[in-house]
Amino acid sequence: MKAWEKNVRKVEPYVPGEQPKIDGIIKLNTNENPYPPSEKVMEALKALENDKMRLYPDPEAVELRDEIAKKYGTKRENVFVGVGSDDVISMCYMTFFNSDKPILFPNISYSFYPVWADVHKVPYKEVEVGPNFEIIVDTFKQENGGIIFPNPNAPTGLSLGLDAIEQIVASNQDSVVIVDEAYVDFGTESALKLVDKYDNLLVVQTYSKSRSLAGMRIGFAIGNVALINALNDVKFSFNSYTMNYTSIKLGVAVMDDWDYFEETRKKIIATRERSKEELTKLGFTFPDSKANFIFASHKTVKAEYIFDELKKRKIYVRYFKKPLIDSYLRITIGTDEAMDKLFEALREIVA
Ligand SMILES: *Cc1c(COP(=O)(O)O)cnc(C)c1O
Repeated sequence: MKAWEKNVRKVEPYVPGEQPKIDGIIKLNTNENPYPPSEKVMEALKALENDKMRLYPDPEAVELRDEIAKKYGTKRENVFVGVGSDDVISMCYMTFFNSDKPILFPNISYSFYPVWADVHKVPYKEVEVGPNFEIIVDTFKQENGGIIFPNPNAPTGLSLGLDAIEQIVASNQDSVVIVDEAYVDFGTESALKLVDKYDNLLVVQTYSKSRSLAGMRIGFAIGNVALINALNDVKFSFNSYTMNYTSIKLGVAVMDDWDYFEETRKKIIATRERSKEELTKLGFTFPDSKANFIFASHKTVKAEYIFDELKKRKIYVRYFKKPLIDSYLRITIGTDEAMDKLFEALREIVA
């Protein structure tokens, strides 16, 4: 071992879902939106000014924060933006999770949470979900240095009611509680209603799922001014220009077309509900998802086998070879046509 190697930060990185470079595949593996972004996004793209590219972007991303604030009935001072919610959450770890006590998150949850804990050297403890994968409010009633969980949870799709969220926030007023609402637009009540009432609550959302803009990398957090100021202090100590000129402009354009957002998210919800019926007929069971994916297990056929067989047919879903969840497949909701092809393939595979 070379001397410098002892000083390398050793981490086991998060493994994102595959982005296969093959034509004609049906991609149901990373929870992207099957519909393109609003036409307004292409218009905004065409309106970009060449000369602005020469300059640094607005380090405060005022235009984007104002637009988000307007749509969510809050103020610019209450909005933080970042390069996808992954960036926002990573900043949150650096900013708020600096206690010797462990932070808490569910043992079945977004697999990036323990990775950020490791890279930022934050102690953590995974609290157990119930037998049906449900998050149990009381497991968060113990000493901690912070709390984070998705609502709806990933990869289960299960949603927690606002009362349960409020109990977690209210019983942990000495910690910052982060609700990761990556999938909230597919049918869950947002905790944004509680941010004025609790100064320890931060709600994080993303443009990647319900707003069809995973490729532009935009995420945001809404919370009280003290939390947002603390996040900004860390961000400006790290990289002032996280939001590039293009993302700021396109991010505004997306928020500006609320009708399209409503139309596409409703289509996805309708396809999800139909998919539940089809999967049930095929012999799958699953928690009742409120997200844009279904976490499904077959009664007799092994998940890994189905995963491989689907891949042979150029249909990609997500399989996590991990304890407790290795009999499940996470299937992103695609267009109706894509889902029909999936069901057709599954009929062959599980027959
Ligand atoms: C997809 C996802 C995110 C992050 O998405 P970004 O593309 O970085 O905005 C965060 N949390 C959960 C639970 C997710 O599934």
